[in-house]
Amino acid sequence: MAAERAAAGLSGPKEMTLGVMGGGQLGRMFAHAAQQMGFFTAVLDPDTNSPAGRVSHHHIQTGYTDAAGLTRLAEVSAAITTEFENVPAEALNQLAQRRPVAPSGAAVAIAQDRAAEKAHFVKCGVPCAPYAVIETAAQLADVDADLLPGILKTSRMGYDGKGQVRVKTQAELAAAWAGLQGVPCVLEKMLPLALECSVIVARGADGTCVNLPVQRNLHRDGILAVTEVYEGNLPPALALRAVTAAKSIAEGVQYVGVLCVEFFVLDAHHPAAAGLGGLVVNEMAPRPHNSGHYSMDACDVSQFHLQVRTLAGLPLVQPRQHSPSIMLNLLGDLWPQGGVPNWAAVLALPGTHLHLYGKLDAKKGRKMGHLNITGATVEQVRATALQAASILGIAAF
Ligand code: ATP
Ligand code: MG
Repeated sequence: MAAERAAAGLSGPKEMTLGVMGGGQLGRMFAHAAQQMGFFTAVLDPDTNSPAGRVSHHHIQTGYTDAAGLTRLAEVSAAITTEFENVPAEALNQLAQRRPVAPSGAAVAIAQDRAAEKAHFVKCGVPCAPYAVIETAAQLADVDADLLPGILKTSRMGYDGKGQVRVKTQAELAAAWAGLQGVPCVLEKMLPLALECSVIVARGADGTCVNLPVQRNLHRDGILAVTEVYEGNLPPALALRAVTAAKSIAEGVQYVGVLCVEFFVLDAHHPAAAGLGGLVVNEMAPRPHNSGHYSMDACDVSQFHLQVRTLAGLPLVQPRQHSPSIMLNLLGDLWPQGGVPNWAAVLALPGTHLHLYGKLDAKKGRKMGHLNITGATVEQVRATALQAASILGIAAF
């Protein structure tokens, strides 16, 4: 294997192992990409059945701040990344004393805190939704009426729409904040969304920055449901603005690794969109993202291959999308009691690629897998995606 790696131009210690904090599906797909390129993988995750732990050479089953676990991960890994943004930034900083860590604890710390994240966007000159930080009763009382109706979001630990309350009045806002136990929050103005999109960028330690084509995303109940990526999914000028903004957000924190930036495209005719310029950034994820999964089957370099390259210091080249693509998220809701969805019917459709994460129980809202659909034309991909959705019980889009 060492000889093969040398032949492929990969340098580094023999049997180079790449480490990842977190054992969810993103870690699993990272491990698969790394192993495809000849690396060994190590996962730190307390769960015996973690999707990534089960496919890795090393599974360190400790908590994320366990000193012995972190030492072990650093011992076996040549470089370390993360697959979820709520990994304690302090753990990454500790690992960084011994091994290259990408993204850095500092970059992850920004993404973990909505207030810090928004301040970073502002610093990078990228507009975000008008907002106020609410950490004290005085800040609550001071909130500008123009931010209502709005969404109160906990600054930390939110995902899939959790930790968010929609509020219309000052009184509702006060009640919502009390309901959230008065933890640090941001209040965001409710914006009129025409659609949502996201961009995956990968930035190397040498400053090279490449991107995947812009994804158009449909959320249902605060969870990503469908991603569509093909020419014409968005007006080209808007897509270009999103890519430029995502790159400057990565640049602004000297980011190394894969970063996803999510955007809102505003309904320009709505009064609440006035003065915001049509495109505002929502949030960033310091890792590959659900909306980038289509790249596994539709691009010559996937978001997980980009993650491996940034971590191993391998060259970054601009990925090329070779097929129009739609991704359908497969949530636990689709699993019939005691059974599985009709995969045979779905896989009988040409251009379907099934990805399951090896999770044992299908719960409502739990991400169990995704289905990528590729084809020769946009029409074909859309027709197949709608057929697959109907077989699986996913509402049409
Ligand atoms: P994720 O799983 O993406 O991390 P999250 O819990 O961080 O989700 P957000 O991305 O903040 O949640 O919001 C979830 C969804 O709620 C958005 O994708 C969007 O559809 C809607 N939303 C959030 N903020 C606003 C806003 N200011 N105006 C209008 N809609 C919004
Ligand atoms: Mg989001």
